[in-house]
Amino acid sequence: METKNLKILYPKETIQERVTALAGQIYHDYQPEEVLVVGVLKGSFVFLADLVRELKLPLIIDFVRLSSYGNSLTSSGTVKILKDLETSITGKNVIIVEDIIDTGLSIKVLKDEFTKRQPRSLKICALIDKNFRRKVEIDADYVGITMDRDYFIVGYGLDWAENYRQLPDICSIEP
Ligand code: 5GP
Repeated sequence: METKNLKILYPKETIQERVTALAGQIYHDYQPEEVLVVGVLKGSFVFLADLVRELKLPLIIDFVRLSSYGNSLTSSGTVKILKDLETSITGKNVIIVEDIIDTGLSIKVLKDEFTKRQPRSLKICALIDKNFRRKVEIDADYVGITMDRDYFIVGYGLDWAENYRQLPDICSIEP
């Protein structure tokens, strides 16, 4: 593998603080109800693991996997659910846990699909929000970190060509 020049952008301590704060907000909004936490594979797996361990609510966990779209494609219709839930969400409090919301295309497709299934409530929790990059109108209900510059980031579950997901900090790939 080609080695990349990485720089720590958000150290693990900062991420930990943000995750604890998010868990506090979610607890406040839902307690004492049960939530179904849906992780979007693969990038959210580390974030989800930390978040649920801070979340003192009754909860169950499921995962989905979405197809990614090429840079040339802009239609949200090109994002597909590759791996669907194993649980029915009808009548449940669903929180989608996403690593990054960038253009918003992926999360919009998922939100629209889940809405059809008539959950009791449906919210989005994103670790990173690149809201200046949005192509469709959609916002997360819970955001850990808002980025105002466009770096390509890796670590804490996020990859570059499947590498670097295991890094404890979030790093930018430098030229
Ligand atoms: P969207 O449909 O919102 O444009 O795409 C969001 C997805 O793109 C994220 O879930 C993530 O997988 C990927 N993505 C966007 N920005 C980055 C980034 O800086 N680093 C990595 N590793 N993935 C990114």
